[in-house]
Amino acid sequence: MTALTNLLDLDPAQLVSYCGELGEKPFRAKQLQRWIHQFGASDFNAMTDLAKSLRDKLATRAMIAAPATISDHISSDGTRKWLLDVGQGNAIETVFIPEENRGTLCISTQAGCAVNCRFCSTGKQGFSRNLTVGEIIGQLWMAEFELRKTKGIEPGPKGERQITNVVMMGMGEPLLNFEPTVMALKMMLDDNAYGLSRRRVTLSTSGVVPMIDKLSQECAVALAVSLHASNDQLRDGLVPLNKKYPLNELMAACKRYLDYAPRDFVTFEYCMLDGVNDTDVHAHELVALVQNGVSVVPCKFNLIPFNPFPASGLTRSNNGRIKAFAQILMDAGIVTTIRKTRGDDIDAACGQLAGEVQDRTHVQERMQKMAEYREKFGRDFGRIVEISA
Ligand code: SAH
Ligand code: SF4
Repeated sequence: MTALTNLLDLDPAQLVSYCGELGEKPFRAKQLQRWIHQFGASDFNAMTDLAKSLRDKLATRAMIAAPATISDHISSDGTRKWLLDVGQGNAIETVFIPEENRGTLCISTQAGCAVNCRFCSTGKQGFSRNLTVGEIIGQLWMAEFELRKTKGIEPGPKGERQITNVVMMGMGEPLLNFEPTVMALKMMLDDNAYGLSRRRVTLSTSGVVPMIDKLSQECAVALAVSLHASNDQLRDGLVPLNKKYPLNELMAACKRYLDYAPRDFVTFEYCMLDGVNDTDVHAHELVALVQNGVSVVPCKFNLIPFNPFPASGLTRSNNGRIKAFAQILMDAGIVTTIRKTRGDDIDAACGQLAGEVQDRTHVQERMQKMAEYREKFGRDFGRIVEISA
């Protein structure tokens, strides 16, 4: 028996070819796409405007499946975190952050990460593998329709959209999983799928210079760059990729990107580490880097209070220090925000996304539970929902 094709893995053009292989006209692809991404359908029988013969054909050859949910937590501040099973003991995380006028989904692009930044628990876990297109877009598909279900909002274009913004800031380095990431981005922007504007989709990178240029040509969404240091020596120690692509090259790439970007600035993320990168001297050096460096880069700064994890050996800068640091940037005319830490109580804050994976036994326990469920209910996957107060 041939394996079922997961339709979440196909971008719009591939879905048209797939329909062609089934002897169907291209407009069927659009219909299918709307059923999948606008109605959240996973059952071909529910696709009532497709001929019965096509539905039957699809049922024997295709499937629509996101990674299975291992756990689903809702934090006291409304942040919701899913732990998803991507096989062979690997789990990834997806986090929804509700705010007054928007809902942001933070998605993962790899299981683990090879970049190994000193302050990041995902990095400490090492690299397992790249996620497929279906595993990346499947996070958005699953989350949008789960959120609607929870709120009793109907699926389909008329129902209130829950996810208005996407940030690729979960586990992994998106630019080191380039093709699947771009295919998933294109689905996010497609009018027959999620129809998000390029300004509302942000890719965060640790600075893979050639891929920043490639992204500008293939799918220029909003760009965030994880800077974390004001000079090469410091950055070499925090983001090892800096040795390959040092700051002058990174800044030049950011500047080039802006010619194609949907916004006229790059967001620099800067994780505030006590005594490491948070002094006034660092702040002044940063101002010089972006305003008087080899490439002057229009930018905003987003200061992220470090989220500690066991054995990092690092601590968070205190609030006064973070404010003083921000003030120096603002006095130089740079828009600066201090990121509110969300979802602390469920380990959903930045850099904690692999927290539970660190605690491998915990994940193994859950996986074991999943296997038991599978056995008991004869289903491929189950759900274990835990709500923390
Ligand atoms: N790999 C990409 C995207 C994922 S990381 C990148 O590095 O940009 C998303 C953001 O979380 C990055 O800015 C990263 O530096 C930050 N981050 C990682 N670990 C953190 C921690 N322990 N505390 C605060 N922010 C962290
Ligand atoms: Fe990878 Fe980003 Fe973590 Fe660095 S901060 S290890 S690039 S996920």
